[in-house]
Amino acid sequence: MIYQSTRNNDEKVNSAKAVVKGIADDGGLFMLSDFSAIKFDYKSVLNLSSMETAEKILGALLDDFSEEEMHEMVEKAYRGRFETDELTPVVKVGDNFVLELFRGPTSAFKDVALSMLPRLMTKAREKLGVQKDTVILTATSGDTGKAALEGFHDVDGIRIIVFYPDGGVSAVQKAQMVTQEGNNVKVCAVKGNFDDAQTGVKNAFADFKKMNYDAVDFSSANSINIGRLAPQVVYYFTAYASLVKSGEINVGDKINFVVPTGNFGDILAGYFAKCMGLPVDKLICASNANNVLTDFINTGLYDKRREFYKTVSPSMDILVSSNLERLLYLLSDGDAGKVAGYMNDLNTKGCYKVDDAILNKLKETFVAAYCDDTVTLETIKEVYEKDGYLCDTHTAVAFRAALDGKYQNKTVVLSTASPYKFPVAVLSALGVTPDDNEFRVMEQINDLTGVAIPKNLSGLESKKVLHSDVIEKNELTDYVLKKVAEEKW
Ligand SMILES: *Cc1c(COP(=O)(O)O)cnc(C)c1O
Repeated sequence: MIYQSTRNNDEKVNSAKAVVKGIADDGGLFMLSDFSAIKFDYKSVLNLSSMETAEKILGALLDDFSEEEMHEMVEKAYRGRFETDELTPVVKVGDNFVLELFRGPTSAFKDVALSMLPRLMTKAREKLGVQKDTVILTATSGDTGKAALEGFHDVDGIRIIVFYPDGGVSAVQKAQMVTQEGNNVKVCAVKGNFDDAQTGVKNAFADFKKMNYDAVDFSSANSINIGRLAPQVVYYFTAYASLVKSGEINVGDKINFVVPTGNFGDILAGYFAKCMGLPVDKLICASNANNVLTDFINTGLYDKRREFYKTVSPSMDILVSSNLERLLYLLSDGDAGKVAGYMNDLNTKGCYKVDDAILNKLKETFVAAYCDDTVTLETIKEVYEKDGYLCDTHTAVAFRAALDGKYQNKTVVLSTASPYKFPVAVLSALGVTPDDNEFRVMEQINDLTGVAIPKNLSGLESKKVLHSDVIEKNELTDYVLKKVAEEKW
């Protein structure tokens, strides 16, 4: 499989190289120009276990890894590390279905991908004969950070630095990150919002390139890495298989997915699944008040020049959705020049408008919806009271879109976090005043609903804080250079 930069079709790499590099030299993202080279029959995985399905799909997308290698990596990534071997169970809630992606080691959907990525990277480094250390730089809006730390800590030959927006993550999320153990991890707060942190990381990559810095290799665990995206394709297939097994649909029936969206990685993986032949009708892109994607899908104009809102669904507080670039590349039939132009407009003018051909193709599959915080909280209450299902704030944004859309096809809502990751908002939604201490709030929710607190969250409060660095947003490059030069982490 040949991956190309979305901004330049001459930059071609195989899948192992794409995983090791993370981002292309020209700032583009590695992508297939179309899916025609992948011959995949979704019917062949309908009766497999989740882990077997993962082996097949990852093998199809990342074909430099042998079947045996993929088997070994999938086992290491998932076996015994999730609450169930099903990994991502589907639950019927009212007329809809919830795909629970948060049953992993940090109670966030990012575990699905970040359990796998370190294994892919280690194996890919081995294949390419990489001797130098790789340093992973990751910006997080909350959940990626912990999931990445959990995936990468104590992996040989790799070090990881996580940057999070100071004051921009929940107390639980912060506690998860700053208590991270491991001899190859750093966690640092950046004064600014998530976009500042993400831009800082992107600029750092560019700076290191400019100075020909070669003491270590830099890479990314953000969803710009194709090795992050590929594992997310799997659960679209297992969700479909689950609906077939429970008799809710017949093989061949089309279904919809509603995806609470931030950086556009999760929903793009759904589009990959569709391109690989899964019978998907609509992909509904659910946003919070930062509804830049809603406007884009409706009009073709992507305009980041707008107010940034801090919402109760902070992992979706994003104005520049990096993975959209990959969709543009696919929808323009691999026209890297065109994509490079749009990205340049975004950088210089803060906006771009896609042509009608792209917009029409976009609308064939994608539907947009958004709701504000008030409606998000109302939805948590409504779903809990009507259907007895407690969902988190991000899932609620998607649930609203499923309820309002009144879709004919069976519709699956992707649930991206445990309600216990955002306890204050969730308890307030249920009409109870939360305690000042977020950890007490978890107990309040447990008392009220009986929903079990995930083990990884209940022990957090008593863990020792190991990371307290805070930097300005323009200090990121210097911070990384300083840390990389330190012998002992
Ligand atoms: C990351 C995240 C999202 C958004 O996923 P993207 O792939 O960035 O679109 C939604 N919900 C939660 C809880 C997340 O952590």
